[in-house]
Formats: sequence, structure tokens, C-alpha cells
Amino acid sequence: MKPIKNQDPQIFELLEKETDRQNYNLELIASENFASRAIMEAQGSVLTNKYAEGYPGKRYYGGCEFADVIEDIARDRAKKLYNADWVNVQPHSGASANAAVYLAFMKPGDTLLGFDLSHGGHLTHGSPVNFSGIYFKPEFYGVEKETGRLDMDKIRDKAKAVNPKMISIGASAYSRDYDYETFRSIADEVGAFLWMDMAHTAGLIATGNLKNPLPHAHVVTTTTHKTLRGPRGGLILIGKDGENTMGKVAPKSGRVKNWSELLDSAVFPGTQGGPLMHIVAAKAVAFGEALQDDFKTYQTQVQKNAKALAAKFMELGYKIVSDGTDNHLILIDLRNKGLNGKIAEEALGKAAITVNKNMVPFDTESPFVTSGIRIGSPAMTTRGLKEAEFEQIAVLIDRVLQKPDDEQVHQSVENEVRELCERFPLYDFVIL
Ligand SMILES: *Cc1c(COP(=O)(O)O)cnc(C)c1O
Repeated sequence: MKPIKNQDPQIFELLEKETDRQNYNLELIASENFASRAIMEAQGSVLTNKYAEGYPGKRYYGGCEFADVIEDIARDRAKKLYNADWVNVQPHSGASANAAVYLAFMKPGDTLLGFDLSHGGHLTHGSPVNFSGIYFKPEFYGVEKETGRLDMDKIRDKAKAVNPKMISIGASAYSRDYDYETFRSIADEVGAFLWMDMAHTAGLIATGNLKNPLPHAHVVTTTTHKTLRGPRGGLILIGKDGENTMGKVAPKSGRVKNWSELLDSAVFPGTQGGPLMHIVAAKAVAFGEALQDDFKTYQTQVQKNAKALAAKFMELGYKIVSDGTDNHLILIDLRNKGLNGKIAEEALGKAAITVNKNMVPFDTESPFVTSGIRIGSPAMTTRGLKEAEFEQIAVLIDRVLQKPDDEQVHQSVENEVRELCERFPLYDFVIL
């Protein structure tokens, strides 16, 4: 068998270019991170060839003896990481994990109360273009205009008014921690399931840098590739299984099933076919990394760097939604600078700084323009940058945003970005 370099030089060359891009750009997209070599080795392994429909000990295919052990290790490590009774490590992505939650707990037409998409919520929490908004009836709560934070009393009022079957927590652009106890008391008051989607903050939660939702939410989903820094994938967890007295799940067989059983069937065969066993192996490696002491050090630095970034931007006269951050990201409202998200994203891209334009709460621009940018610290923290470098990043971004059309500024900032990237090397290989 030939290496890709010889067999398919066209794709290989593009992989080289992408590696170069990752090595020499400031990666500030809040949902991205850099996986370790060990994780990528597992992802690139022979397990990509293996069909293992079903679960350990209950497969529909032969030859699963090693796949079984790997999946069991992945499950055990994930349970330990979050103090969970039960996990499912097979969802192909965050969206797939969420699809399984809907299938397990909701019927078409049921009401979901979720985090307003225009305030930072995710597509899979009721967007009209997503299955969650097409097959279910979405209602939303949002942040307060003055504070940029959630107001639990208003959420309680909303829940009582719309009587949802499920309440979801979790967002892609909210920089504050959640009051899970109050969310749960609201869910109990209206008889709803409580679902937390910790896709963005799973790493910070694993190390205790943010509160753990598992004792409060009936079900928790996540991605494994954002702050958790694993392979691209999804995960579903339950803190306490067997709490299934709510009776909202009417099992066809008449036997009341545990939520874990409902969710396992909702993943396979409900919404997926065969698991990606190479990714399951990579998840096991990632959970192993997350159980090490230095992962806590990393997450603490992620938080410190995001705070340093927020403070520096505020010093430079920028408006940060909610005036700071508890987690790994900040959302900048650019309106007082006479800019929009589209212009800022494009100008920063020309200076080798990667951010994404983002709606801010009560935005008056369209989603294609937006009034803000979202900036996250996880990826560059993985490279070893600390507070001083993040302050430097705020200054570099400010220099570009002061003159978004100035090519000389783009060039001089790009040069500084390159120096910074060279000081904190990333990947010294293109393929393994
Ligand atoms: C990223 C994200 C997802 C989706 O994850 P994918 O792996 O891209 O499908 C779901 N929910 C939230 C809150 C997210 O931030």
C-alpha cells in the first residue's frame, strides 16, 4: 500500500496547506481546539474498517472482541470524568447526540423550551431550519438586554406559560455559568425533562472549573472536540439513572424502561447505524487525557486567558456582552466601534487571525452580517499561550479593527502572528 503522498498528491498537498494554516494562524474560534497526536493516531487507525452495530457484548457483527473492550474503556473513563451513572459514547457528533435525546423524550409536536438562538443558543435547540424546530414546537428564553445574563424568574414564568415537555440549557455563545438547581426546580414545577447540552463547556466542567450539571439535569449531551479537546464526536450522559418515575415516557412494551435504555435505543438503531469505532477509541484516549492532572491546569489557563482577553478588550473600549466571562469565550458587540461582524471577521482573516462573526443579543443585523464576533481561548491555550499573549492578541485585533481596510496593517499584524505561532509550535507532521 502506498502512502497518501504518492497515491493522491492532490489531496496530500491540501493537507499540507491545512496543516500550515493551523500552525501559523491565530485560532480563536471558540468551538475549536487542537487534538493530541495520540488522539489523531487512534482516529487514523484500522478501527475505521470495523462494523460494530450494537453495544459491547450485544453486537450484530462478529469480530468485535477488541472493539468491545475499547468501548467499555471509553465508557468507564467518561463516567469517571463526570461522575455519571451511564454514558453512550457512540454519537457521531453533538447534533447526533441531541437527535437521540429528542427521539427518546419527545413526540412530534411536543414543546421544547430552549435558549434563544439569536442570544447564543444552538441550531439543535429549536431552529426553524433544523429537525428540532421542524418536528417539535420550539419556545425560547433569552438573556436580559441590560445584563446579557439569564433571569431565572423570567424563565420560570415562560415555562409556566408554555408548559414544555422538555427544557434545554446550553448555548454556543453564552459566557456565563448556569444555575442548574433553579433550572431543575422549574422543570419539576412544570413536569418537564431537563436537558443540558454542554457541548462548549464540557472540558471546563470535567475539571470542576464550571459547575457539573449531571446532578440536576435528567440528561446531558456534549461534543467531544471543543473544550474537551478530543476527536470530533458526541456523547450522552446521565447522572442518576432509574429516576424514571416521571411517566412521560410511554414505552410501547408496557414495561417502564430506564432512560439509559431509551437513550441507547435512540442512538442505535434510532438515529444511527454502525458506530465509528476509530472515533470511539480516540474518545477513550481523550477521556484518559482529561483524567490527568495537567488537564485541570489546562482548563484553568483557558479560563484565565479568556478573562485576560475580556479585560484587555474592555480597557480598549470594547463592549463585551455581560461585561466579562466565566468560561472560555467572549462575545464582543462591535456596534459602538461602528463595525459589524462580517467586516471584522474578514479583516482579521486577512491578518491570519481566525474568529467568527456572531449575533449579539437583540442584534439588528442579519445572521450573515451580525453585530459581533465570538472569541475563544481553548485552541491557543493548548499551544501554551498565557495571559500576556492573550493581552497581546487583544491589541493585535484592535489594530486591525481600527483600520479594517488597511493592507499594511494586515501585513504587519500577520507578521506578529507568525512570530507568536513560531514561539508556540503545534504540529510537526502532516499525516501520521
Ligand atoms: C457545537 C454544538 C453542537 C453541535 O455539535 P456538532 O458536533 O457540530 O454537531 C450542539 N450543541 C451546542 C450547544 C453546540 O455548541
